[in-house]
Amino acid sequence: MHIFAVLSATLAEALQSVEKWRAAGFPVVTAAEFHARKAACDACPKLTHTALGPTCGVCGCSTRLKPWLRTEKCKLRRWVCIPAAAVPQLSRKSG
Ligand code: SF4
Repeated sequence: MHIFAVLSATLAEALQSVEKWRAAGFPVVTAAEFHARKAACDACPKLTHTALGPTCGVCGCSTRLKPWLRTEKCKLRRWVCIPAAAVPQLSRKSG
């Protein structure tokens, strides 16, 4: 596949992920959830290293950013999407 076709597909997928994340209200996982996801990526045979840092060889995403997004999941099911409803909401004090 031509490099521009690969970049185009990767960018299109990234934009879809960001749109899904935006539509959900930009939810992130907890630090513990992030570290569990990151550990799975670090041990994954599909992990590659690019000029942008550690990168998933399946989806092309940064494995230092994607695991933070609650709406994302690993395509190989090494880690899963965590529903926002499973996370206690922070309360805001007014005044
Ligand atoms: S997202 Fe999944 S397939 Fe990609 S590097 Fe992480 S564990 Fe591996």
